[in-house]
Parts: sequence; structure tokens; C-alpha cells
Amino acid sequence: MKIFISADMEGATGVVNVAQTDHREKEYAFGCTMMSHDVNAVIRGALDAGADSVLVNDSHWRMINIDIAGLGFGERVCLLSGSPKALTMMEGFETADAAFFVGYHAKAGTGKAIIDHTISGQVIYSITLNGKELGETGLNAAVCAQRGIPLALVTGDAAVCAEASELLGEGLVTACVKKAHGREAAECLLPETSAEVLKEAAGEAVRRARGGKSPVMDIGDGSFDLRVAFHNSKQCDRAAILPGVERLDGRAVRVTGTDMTNMMRQAMSLISLAGS
Ligand SMILES: [Zn+2]
Repeated sequence: MKIFISADMEGATGVVNVAQTDHREKEYAFGCTMMSHDVNAVIRGALDAGADSVLVNDSHWRMINIDIAGLGFGERVCLLSGSPKALTMMEGFETADAAFFVGYHAKAGTGKAIIDHTISGQVIYSITLNGKELGETGLNAAVCAQRGIPLALVTGDAAVCAEASELLGEGLVTACVKKAHGREAAECLLPETSAEVLKEAAGEAVRRARGGKSPVMDIGDGSFDLRVAFHNSKQCDRAAILPGVERLDGRAVRVTGTDMTNMMRQAMSLISLAGS
């Protein structure tokens, strides 16, 4: 069984403040340490439960956050590091038997959620897929779903765990490492405790995936209407330059299609154009 891990930083153990996730700030070193800590614990749990190989895709910002020297697992584990990558957070997922989303955060506009945002906090107000508002968990789960790949594990704060469970149902394993009191304050498990929680959850996720019990998100009949609303109309002006993008109103555009992977590439392109 091959596991694909998409690893973000905002949902890592102990991370509560934007400065800890921003490579221009001195607190960033802590974010890297804790992201690597959580990824390590999840890999250990997956391998102990019998996973054959793990591909970790560093999915936060410049995507060079995880300490490769600290991943002492040998040839069964590979790290996909760096950016740009065409599929960004999902680069490399296609050949996996199950996906894990580690260190994830809740979608933009969620209360009591550490650093809630969707793809870009500066650019995106909201994203909907077929009328349902989704964050990174839902969008990336939809990309997996179209290839029939189950999402077996989501880790992060209590808010992203709730968001993921609402989308995927009870078959999904979640691991909560902190409970937010606000956007930048949380009650956090200590690293040695969260390592055990994450290891245990990853093992359970592998067992469920192997038994065919991990959920594939319901994405309807396979025709997609993806709408992106921006914080302001100038961002929307820029996004609307891209061919195939339909302007809906002052702040929103949409793309339609039947290939979720391509639509995510379109969405990432128009978001990066909007933020340029
Ligand atoms: Zn991130």
C-alpha cells in the first residue's frame, strides 16, 4: 500500500501564529520543526501498520519546510520538496492507494480555527464546488475522489477535523492536535503526546484503507462548477484575464469542466494571477 501525504504547516502541533508559518519571520524555525515532527509521527504510524511506501509532498508556501535529514526511514519514504509544482498540494498523488492530509487548517471564514484560510488568505474570500463552500481539505479530497483515491487521514486543529468529518463521514480518521480559542490562540497537545496521537491515527488509517473502509468524497455526477470569490474587484479583474474563466460579478469568477485535476490547475493559475 502506497500512502501519499500532503503536509501543511498551519495545523501542526503547537503552531498558532502566522509568524510561525512565514519564512520571513524568526518564529518560522519553530513551524518547520513542528511540521517535521508531525509528518515524522504520521510516517512512523503508517509504516508500523504495514504501509509499503510513503510519498510526502511538502505543501506549505515555498514547499521547502520539512527537514529531510530528520526523516530517518530509509528507502520506503520519499520527500517531494520545492515549488512551483503543477498540482501544488496534490503533486504526486496519482499513484497512491490512499491520501493523508497532515497539518491542515480549516477553510476561510471558520471561527475558532487556527489560521483559517483557503489557499491564499490575502486573495481568496471563498471557493465553492457545485454550490458547496470548500477549503483545501475538500478541494484536495475532490481531486483524489475523481481518481477513486480515498482520503484516509486528516490531522490539524479541532476545526479542520470537524470540517473533514462533515465532508467525508465516519470512515475518515482524524487526529486533533490543538483546539483553537481564536484564529491565533489554541490549547495544544505537547509534542510527545501529539506524536502518539498521530502515530495511532496513521496506523488506524492504514488499516481502514487496506480494508476498503476509507472514504472517497462524494463528488456527484462528475460535472463541476468551481467558483472563486476574491477579497476585492481588482484581484478579480486579474483572474478574469485567464482564458476559460467566466466573470460572475465584481468579485467572483467561475470555471466549469469534468476533470477536477485540470480545474484545480486552472484555479491555482487564476489565484496566482489574482495575487500578482
Ligand atoms: Zn500552509
